[in-house]
Order: sequence, then structure tokens, then C-alpha cells
Amino acid sequence: MLRTSSEILAPIREKVEAGERLSFDDGLVLESPEAPLPEVGELANLVRERKNGNAGYYNINTHLNATNICVYRCSFCAFRSDLRQAKGYWMQDDAILERGREAVENGCTEMHIVGGLHHQAKYDWYRKVVSLLHDNYPDLHLKAWTPVEIDWFARLTKKPISWVLEDQREAGLGSMPGGGAEIFHPEIRSKICEHKADSGRWFETHRTAHQLGLRTNCTMLYGHIEQPRHRIDHLIRLREQQDESLAAGSDGFQTFIPLSYHPENNKLGEENNLRKPSGLMDLRQMAVARLMLDNIDHIKAYWIMLGIGTAQVALSYGADDIDGTVRHELIYHDAGATTPEVMGVSEIERIIREAGREPIERDTLYRRVERSGEGWSVGEKITAEA
Ligand code: SF4
Repeated sequence: MLRTSSEILAPIREKVEAGERLSFDDGLVLESPEAPLPEVGELANLVRERKNGNAGYYNINTHLNATNICVYRCSFCAFRSDLRQAKGYWMQDDAILERGREAVENGCTEMHIVGGLHHQAKYDWYRKVVSLLHDNYPDLHLKAWTPVEIDWFARLTKKPISWVLEDQREAGLGSMPGGGAEIFHPEIRSKICEHKADSGRWFETHRTAHQLGLRTNCTMLYGHIEQPRHRIDHLIRLREQQDESLAAGSDGFQTFIPLSYHPENNKLGEENNLRKPSGLMDLRQMAVARLMLDNIDHIKAYWIMLGIGTAQVALSYGADDIDGTVRHELIYHDAGATTPEVMGVSEIERIIREAGREPIERDTLYRRVERSGEGWSVGEKITAEA
């Protein structure tokens, strides 16, 4: 006899209501088209409101991709350039400082810094990107470098990851973003980014950062050639790392960001004739992440990738954060994102309110930002499970 949709989700509903952890097999059920999306979303919303109430977090931030020239050739990447390609660029000190000045003038609290691994750039240049900005704009939080870059710096310097992270922190690094995770499972990773830091190195970098007291984020790039089992495997690996970091007394990952694949201008999309994931797929990934990652406080609906409408709905499908006002985003716009390149504060607050949530400006470390005529200051840390 066929089971009804509610019967399929009943055991999971019981666990979620009791605050119990979901298994790998539960994850596969949530991914199945037989599990109705509205019900999966309702369960995710239960966890979201338990952890973060009615808050819809955002920040005022900007991006810096100081070079797009990269030694690697990840097949999903539309951003990278070869050394001699016309689109290749390498920002020098004055351009980097100008980006910092513009950020501060526009009230940004955070700069998100990632980019390519330039064949000719020495480690000292990457360090200088951070120290130059930190020395001139000390209030700007620098959220910089993925494990792919940290691994590259370790190779350039022949030093361990812990040395690189401590040296970067001394230069002004405030925390790390979550990129470079893609899909951890080797069946997929070997096809989309076989050369860059593998999953072991990715986790080693975050584990070390957590041990040093740095907060970090984590991501998953979905909607290309992976299967549901690869996504659930990915989420469980993150959950296990978070268990380990929390047990060791670190604060661990702050936020998980599901990244919706964009197929334009990249080899992966062209060779596999891929389409952008649908809005329904995006919402399911948001909800599944919220339900599986019971030990990570925040789930972000990155509006740049999702589009504003889907990001709004995602605020009721597990997400509590919508990222920021964002300036100078290149990576997903190069891959076909059609969202605006910047959003004003009043607009971001309007779209959060319209989604039925209370807009709260946070800094990178989830402290409430207070603004006055003289500028901004940070208040109390916003605690989850509020
Ligand atoms: S994803 Fe990063 S490491 Fe891979 S090719 Fe693009 S810039 Fe290089």
C-alpha cells in the first residue's frame, strides 16, 4: 500500500519536535520528491524559529576579489582567468585601499575577501592585502580566504596551516568565509575540482581555525552533477566537524550557506547541459540544511545567488539570514547571476519585513549593530535559541 506524504514524514516530524538528531536516511527522505516541500519547509521553520525567533539578519558589507587569475581550473568556475586572458586582473595597493575607503564611507562593517591563486603572487602579497586594509581601516572586519587559499599559502611558505592562520590573524584577519567546500564526496569532487584542496585539507583548515579561536562559515555548492546522497554526506561531515569543534571548547562554524549553482560561462554547465536549480530545489536545500545541521546556529539565504524572491521565501524555509547589502560581487555574476550588484539598507530591510521577519543588522560575529549620526558601534552578541 502506498504511504501518504504525512506518513513518510511522520517519524522525522516526531524527531524534530523532540529536538532529536536526524540520520543520513532521514536526510534522504527529506530530499525525496515524495516528501512534500511545504511540509519539509514547515519542519525547518520550526527549528529556525526555535533557534532564531523571528529575526531576519543582514549586514552592510562589500566584497574584494583582488585577483581573478588562478592556477586552478575548477570546472564550475566562471570567475577565474588565465594569466594572459584579457579579463585577467591583479589589483595593486591603491585599488585595494580605494575599496577599503569606499567600504568605510558606505558604512560597511565587513569586507569579504576571496579570489584566485595567482601564478606570480608571493605569499607576502596576499598577507599585504589583509594588513593594508586592517592598518588603514581597523574597524572593518576582514572575513578572508577559503581553505583553498590557506592551503595555497601553506604550499608557498612551506609552513603548516596553523602558522599561516596565525600570521594572517596578526595581519588583521577577523574570520573565514565558508567557500571552497563545493561537494566533499570524492565521486563528485574529483570531477569538478580535482586539483585544489581536498575535503581532508578543507576540514583541517577549519578545525585549526576553530582551535585558534577564529569563527568560520561553511557552504555547499549544489544543483550540478551531485546526487542527494552526496549532499546529505556533505551536511553530515559538517555536522561531525561542528560536534568536534564544540566538544573541544571552540565556537566553530557560525553559518551554513547553501550555494545554488549557476551554469553560465563555465565548463561544467556547458559539458553537462546543466540548468540553474529551480526555486523549489533551492527552498528544499535550505530546509534540509536547517534540519540536518542541528548544531550550527545560522542558515543563510544568499540573495545574490537565489534571487530576491526566493531568498524572501527561504526566510520561512529554515534561513534566518539574507547576507548583506553587498558591493562588487563578481564570482556569481560572472556565472550568470542577474541580481543587482548592491542593495540599499532600506531595500534589504523592506524585503525582510515583507517576508514577515524582523530585520536586524548584525556584524560578522552576530553582534547587534547600533547606528547613530556619528557612525556605528556593536552591542550585545545576539544569542541563538533566543
Ligand atoms: S573556484 Fe577558486 S580555485 Fe577554483 S578556479 Fe575558481 S578561483 Fe580558482
